[in-house]
Amino acid sequence: MVTKELLHHQDLLEWCWAAEDELIPKPFFTSCFLLDGLLIDTGAPKGLQEFQTFITPKITNNEIVKCLITHTHEDHIGGAHVLSEQNTIPIYASAIAIPLLENAHNYTYPEYRELYWGAGLHSVKAHAIPDKIHSNSGKYELKVVATPGHAPEQIAFIEPTQEWAFVADAVLPKYRVLFGHTCNIQEDISQIYDTIQRLYLATEGMNNLKVFVSGKGVFHGLQYLKERMKEIKTLHTTVQSYKEQGLTPEEILGKIFGEEGIMGIMTGGELSHQNLINSLFQWKA
Ligand SMILES: [Zn+2]
Repeated sequence: MVTKELLHHQDLLEWCWAAEDELIPKPFFTSCFLLDGLLIDTGAPKGLQEFQTFITPKITNNEIVKCLITHTHEDHIGGAHVLSEQNTIPIYASAIAIPLLENAHNYTYPEYRELYWGAGLHSVKAHAIPDKIHSNSGKYELKVVATPGHAPEQIAFIEPTQEWAFVADAVLPKYRVLFGHTCNIQEDISQIYDTIQRLYLATEGMNNLKVFVSGKGVFHGLQYLKERMKEIKTLHTTVQSYKEQGLTPEEILGKIFGEEGIMGIMTGGELSHQNLINSLFQWKA
């Protein structure tokens, strides 16, 4: 296992965790953020021990008073039950996420994800998150923004004074693959585009914007969001023009990416270029 702690600001700590897997050349990290008593997300089931090592002293020192869940994928809710059951720390999530969290013990996902992130999620009782949530000392206020597309229940948090956006998996640094096919995560590129646009509007005028993406780093400036929208629009225009010429989604995959990538092959098509092409193909302008 690999863990790292990154202090972005005196009140903002990021904890990252990745499994070590020789099949995967570069580790995939998932992140939790701790901001003045607010913990955003709780890691993966396989990293539970390391997560507990991270949170236990902080709970003892009353440094975690509320937990906010961005969405219910296994790499974000792995330790939530420990907070709520053993430490009675309230969990907050979107209204759509609440029944999913309550039913988390029944959540199943494919073997490659079980191997990487671990299995055995626990059910969690969560409260509906208000539109705005204050940090422990009242110093920070997080504005909640709905960010569907990657997951229907996903939410992001924006701290307007600091110009921080915690977007979890809502905005990726590059759009090359999408979850879909037979997967329980059905990503929709048109919704992802709308979500990025919503985040862009919600952060308008923030010239020093910092976008915190789960496990993937911090991205600076509104330009980051603008570039993602442009990237998706360009891909959409290209796919739609091939569609007008009568090409199938499989033929368009060949035109744009040459062939399916290694992730697409390793995941049996669940996280693939083809899903991205299919979603762009179905998206009516
Ligand atoms: Zn996710």
